[in-house]
Amino acid sequence: MQSTQVLNGFHASPKPLNTDKKWILAVLDGQILVPRKPIADNSMLIDQSSADQLKFFCQRRLWLGQWQGIDCQVWELSAEAKAASDFKLIELRNLLFTADDQAFSMACRAVQLLDWQDKHQFCGTCGLAMEGSSSEHAMRCEPCNISNYPRISPCIIVVVTRGEHCLLARQPSWPEGRFSALAGFLEAGESAEQAVHREVFEEVGVEVTNIRYVGSQSWPFPGQLMIGFLAEAVTENILVDGIEISEAYWCHYRDLPHYVPPPTIMGGRLIKQFVDEVSAEQ
Ligand SMILES: [Zn+2]
Repeated sequence: MQSTQVLNGFHASPKPLNTDKKWILAVLDGQILVPRKPIADNSMLIDQSSADQLKFFCQRRLWLGQWQGIDCQVWELSAEAKAASDFKLIELRNLLFTADDQAFSMACRAVQLLDWQDKHQFCGTCGLAMEGSSSEHAMRCEPCNISNYPRISPCIIVVVTRGEHCLLARQPSWPEGRFSALAGFLEAGESAEQAVHREVFEEVGVEVTNIRYVGSQSWPFPGQLMIGFLAEAVTENILVDGIEISEAYWCHYRDLPHYVPPPTIMGGRLIKQFVDEVSAEQ
């Protein structure tokens, strides 16, 4: 084993450290196959001896990085592995409620790497088959000297505040009473702050200032990075665009709607931070 600095939690590295022990994270059809009896502090991880019964069904292996300094590999399993009685399947979305940030990040990476490899089999310039690089997570076309990396699409998500109120919005496809923050993809050439100004203005016609970064979260459905902000409103009138947003209003912090996202999701974290900050001032 090489001597190296160990990051706590998950270290997303394409290179193994060749540790004596190894953890397996099993993915089946975009879901995570986890041991019924967790054997590590990260309940998704499978040790090598338990993974033996899954070996036969393994179709692809990729290095994920390290968990607490120990090498982790994602195994993509064929559907027959569902029958393995010591394991159960968990939807990636469900991990948002049960896994901590580090474990969730690791599961996101596993699913995203497999999905990215599947979708980058051929070079977009010459059409030849691409090959996986041995030194990094990249799909290479040597004749064109092109590398394709896992695609991550940045999105801003913002809670606009106005004193004791914050702006909550509902998308047309959501059930009545469900509200969250505003969100949207960055356009090419934009900074995240510019995207906040534009998205808020386009979706609800409000201008903002004092944009404050709060945090970010991987959102692997299929490959977003949610970058969360709080921003203060400069204007008050709401004009919903009727396409991405069907309903929006200034909500008092003591009177949140029945359905807002939990704080494990970035939208919920932003709402909670706003409520905590306003409550602290009272
Ligand atoms: Zn090419």
